[in-house]
Amino acid sequence: MPAKLIDGKKIANHYRNSIAEEVKQLRKDGMAPGLAVILVGEDSASQTYVRMKRKTCQEMGIHSILIEYGNEVGENELLEKIQQLNDDKAIHGILVQLPLPEGIQTEKVIEQISPDKDVDGFHPVNIGRMMIGEDSFLPCTPYGIMKMLQYEGISPSGKHAVVVGRSNIVGKPAGQLLLRENATVTYCHSKTENLVSYTRSADILISAAGRPNFISGKDIKPGAIVIDVGMNRDENGRLCGDIDFETAKETAGYITPVPGGVGPMTITMLMFNTVKSARRAIG
Ligand code: NDP
Repeated sequence: MPAKLIDGKKIANHYRNSIAEEVKQLRKDGMAPGLAVILVGEDSASQTYVRMKRKTCQEMGIHSILIEYGNEVGENELLEKIQQLNDDKAIHGILVQLPLPEGIQTEKVIEQISPDKDVDGFHPVNIGRMMIGEDSFLPCTPYGIMKMLQYEGISPSGKHAVVVGRSNIVGKPAGQLLLRENATVTYCHSKTENLVSYTRSADILISAAGRPNFISGKDIKPGAIVIDVGMNRDENGRLCGDIDFETAKETAGYITPVPGGVGPMTITMLMFNTVKSARRAIG
């Protein structure tokens, strides 16, 4: 039987409606949530993501500002701008679109953002808080995945979750959040030997490797919950995930499409974190 489609757009809209309601209420109370987006360089994918994020802000009633720099911007100039935004009371969230051009130390830039405005959830303080289970801003993509599972009534408890990819922004935190919900977690990465022996034993399979269609239906446990984070281009230049959707949907129990799966949830959780920050600012 083909898998049930996890419709990221529909789930994102469900959460966006309640976020928009909350923004309305905050605005009535005299508070307009504000997000500052910093974009460096001319990377076209980054430009698209920034446009989508700002468009969603507008739809939610969140005030957003865009600060753009060319590739030649100095690290110090960037750090000073972030400090200004840290001090700006109208700004509740600061997002630096990654990747940054060579020559700028990404860690240094992220660490300059006040943990209280780090709505991407990438600051070491927020990562640390997440690890020990304290309240924090959770990284948007893994957080969005957990919200999708919750919406579908899927409990990770006791399940074997396999996460392919160990980046600081997706793979690692996705595994941590699944662990928090009592899954038994295995991480795989580029040095993992016999990857399919892991993917075939996954009750929940999260793929965030950035490899077009590299996991097919035969590499998936029948009935598994398959979450495809990958955003890749196939040989025809079409957007695709890490999972070969056509074969995987015949084996999986649940599956997310690309596009229309994890992507809309990532932006939604960014909005959620910005509103959470605004709410915190008024106590
Ligand atoms: P990174 O390149 O930072 O990390 C990729 C990870 O995958 C690494 O840990 C790498 O291992 C691992 N990997 C690469 N190739 C293989 C392989 N053949 N087998 C097993 N593991 C492998 O990417 P990101 O985490 O930033 O992003 C991953 C994907 O998710 C990308 O396609 C990206 O575009 C997409 N993405 C989508 C988002 C959304 O909202 N839908 C948001 C963010 C990202 P190693 O550590 O050993 O190098």
